[in-house]
Amino acid sequence: MPLDGLYGRIIMDHYRHPRNRALVAAPDIHARELNPFCGDLAEVQMKLDAAGRVAHVGVQAEGCSIIQASASMMGEALAGKTPAELEALAARFRDWLQGRSPEGAADVPEGLQALQVVRQHPVRLKCVLLPWVALEEGVLAFLRRRAGEH
Ligand code: ZN
Repeated sequence: MPLDGLYGRIIMDHYRHPRNRALVAAPDIHARELNPFCGDLAEVQMKLDAAGRVAHVGVQAEGCSIIQASASMMGEALAGKTPAELEALAARFRDWLQGRSPEGAADVPEGLQALQVVRQHPVRLKCVLLPWVALEEGVLAFLRRRAGEH
């Protein structure tokens, strides 16, 4: 897909220099998602601090440039958030990407907005969203585990 302009350059920069690639040891939140149709793979780990906020983030993705860039950009948006805030961010991002968010661009952090170029390539929406699916699954499993502990 053609990726030019400012947003295209931001995406290619994340693809070539992915952030937060290092694995997080003993993560509190962890999930891995595979798209069996194209082989795209996304994995996320997060360690929470004593206040229950994300202190360390690891994201790894394999596949096309879009999923790798999306994973890298997502990883930069997670630090300092509580599990509930992560869920809310993922939901807002999904709505925004699919053009369904009431507030438009104001609903997602600036660092994610370059991903809107994918709207012109709807077949790639799954690529962008896979790391976010992993994030949501990881948070859900964490919340279930925590609820079970009480
Ligand atoms: Zn892909």
